[in-house]
Amino acid sequence: MTAPLLEARQVTKIFRSGIVQRHETVALDKFSLTIDPSQPTILSVVGESGSGKSTMARLLLGLETPTLGQVLYRGKDMTQLNRDERRQFRRDVQAVFQDPFGVFNSFYRVDHVLEVPIRKFDLARGRDATRRLMEESLALVGLRPQETLGRYPHQLSGGQRQRVMVARALLLKPTLIVADEPVSMIDASLRATVLDTLRRLNQDLGISLLYITHDLTTAYQISSDIIVLYSGRVAELGAVNPVVKSPRHPYTQLLVGSIPLPDPTRPWADEPEASETGEQAIPGQGCVFAPRCPHAFARCLEAEPPLYRTQPFQAATCYLYAGDPVLPWEQMDSVFTRQQATLAGPEKTERGKAEPGKEVTVAS
Ligand code: ADP
Ligand code: MG
Repeated sequence: MTAPLLEARQVTKIFRSGIVQRHETVALDKFSLTIDPSQPTILSVVGESGSGKSTMARLLLGLETPTLGQVLYRGKDMTQLNRDERRQFRRDVQAVFQDPFGVFNSFYRVDHVLEVPIRKFDLARGRDATRRLMEESLALVGLRPQETLGRYPHQLSGGQRQRVMVARALLLKPTLIVADEPVSMIDASLRATVLDTLRRLNQDLGISLLYITHDLTTAYQISSDIIVLYSGRVAELGAVNPVVKSPRHPYTQLLVGSIPLPDPTRPWADEPEASETGEQAIPGQGCVFAPRCPHAFARCLEAEPPLYRTQPFQAATCYLYAGDPVLPWEQMDSVFTRQQATLAGPEKTERGKAEPGKEVTVAS
């Protein structure tokens, strides 16, 4: 059995700051996830500002190193990759970030953004081949090359700029795109087109997408599975339908209650405020959500709850479900629906790539 594309095993990231008064921020705590390209998926990671989403993305992209735990790329620790493996990683896993303007240099035409990876990865030789590749890639994200190439970034809308960034990611034919808040800086009216582009890449090209957002509404619209983060911890995860329609964790319940459910006539949700209590729970000292939780009881302050599997496709880190089976981190991904296809038998998987024995995605 081949190793999964990307795997986070009990990854913790602690930021330390301050010289006189040392301050520790547990940005992400014991986060585990497996991304297996044989089951192309759209997985959302949602949480309020400061919940650790970008830290998680940066760890998976190899832009941060874990304080504890491991991130593995095709079975190998990210920090141990040699030059060639690193290069392969950068082709396999592409990132799209929040601010498409930040990446553009306003003095260069849009073409430049696409030419750089083509040159760097030697994707095409000569002017014509380069141009063809750029056109192909732009077409895939629904942009007309003749209306895009030759322009300066300020001549495009935010939505168009972000789609150019997706086109750039596509040049390398990635297996996975990690998109960190790709539409939050874009006008609400244009968000749907960008999200639709991403969704089609998944459907048509089999590219997996890790969609990171503070906005539960778009997560619900685009993804099949979801992870809810709160203060660096997984609060709840599972198939998007049960998690959004009947959330178990009190934090998810709060999110669902405060964010409009998909209804095209209602406005998009603004970013929820970060927790005002400012509490930074020390690992091992109770549930991080307890200070805000309407159901908190003594046990919640004593020890961090494990993940309880409340349903086949849903699990929550909350003692309210202590009667349900504990879900070990090694099996966390088994609550995602993308697993269901495999469990139901290879004939039900769309891409026909599932092999017997593939269902266990955590490498042993
Ligand atoms: P999100 O993307 O969900 O808004 P982040 O991952 O950016 O959350 O941040 C999670 C926590 O880690 C926050 O408390 C943030 O202040 C802290 N943090 C993130 N990056 C750094 C850093 N480079 N140095 C210190 N603290 C950081
Ligand atoms: Mg962020």
